[in-house]
Amino acid sequence: MQYPEQGIRLRSSARTSTGQVRENNEDNIHLWTHENFVLAIVADGMGGAAAGEEASRIAVEAIKAGFTPRDQRPETLVSVEDAVVTERLRDAIQTANINIVQKAAVSPEMRGMGTTVTLAFIRGTYAIVAHVGDSRAYLVDGDDRSITQITSDHSFVEALLLAGHITPEQAEDHPMKNVLYRALGQAEDVDVDMYYKRLHVGDRLVLCSDGLTRHVKPNEIAKLALADANPDIVSQNLIDLANARGGEDNVSVIVISVEGTTTNNPPEKEAVIINPSDEDETLVLKDRMPMRSSQLPDEENEASPDYDNLDDTQPGVPQGSLLFDDPKMTAERLRDEDGDTTLQLRD
Ligand code: CA
Repeated sequence: MQYPEQGIRLRSSARTSTGQVRENNEDNIHLWTHENFVLAIVADGMGGAAAGEEASRIAVEAIKAGFTPRDQRPETLVSVEDAVVTERLRDAIQTANINIVQKAAVSPEMRGMGTTVTLAFIRGTYAIVAHVGDSRAYLVDGDDRSITQITSDHSFVEALLLAGHITPEQAEDHPMKNVLYRALGQAEDVDVDMYYKRLHVGDRLVLCSDGLTRHVKPNEIAKLALADANPDIVSQNLIDLANARGGEDNVSVIVISVEGTTTNNPPEKEAVIINPSDEDETLVLKDRMPMRSSQLPDEENEASPDYDNLDDTQPGVPQGSLLFDDPKMTAERLRDEDGDTTLQLRD
């Protein structure tokens, strides 16, 4: 594959929030955008306030330095083979791991610190995802509007779930849901999971820390991700929703949107998300009617249903007026042969 790919543009946005409960932010994020590629990193530190912050900061710094050595111009990444990129990402994460282990060894107050790391390197329509811990990468399909969790959490609860010992419902409120069996900083060696995804125009890639998924369900992530073409607005809406629901943890979100620069852009989505008002912190969804540039919206006649949340079953939703908000619609979790789970929305 030659880069840049014709007719493809990547737009992205990264945001992090301390949330509503914590006093400091142990998440660290990084978004590096270049004309032809994007490197996005989410790291969620653990081990106590200062230590958690330090672990995730070391991880991000080490990966940045390892992936783009100072003696190489970013442009050289255009022609590097995918297998070489994969090895470079894996090496950078393993160096980050060693750096954290070594820092903890000489700093008693940092003992036990660790961090997750989930990153995506995207060139054109090809994404390489590297993952350790429970920060997630999701692929939101712009065509069938399904959402696929690319990564599999390295948590005990996920292991119990995969083994069939607990149900998805039990997993949600499980007392051990924050306990990881794999993270950076725990041992001299760490296994890094790698995933490869082909993206299409209209798709969104969403990286997030568990501060988002604690409060916002995958189908809601899909909804919000597809409701606006601007990743800045999507990332803000996702963080606002997590915070409106309690913001119990630090919340980090990176959204990458694949756009066509020529033709074949997907049609405008029917729903747009309006920023929550300061007064009631609700999200407002409204129809986006097909509109010519000469037409202005009629404010009086415009249906603007207000919702306390994005609960699909909330009564009073005009049927068919909102994407995803059909109360008859159900979500079903599918697993493909690669072991990826897909949340499929069905009528
Ligand atoms: Ca967290």
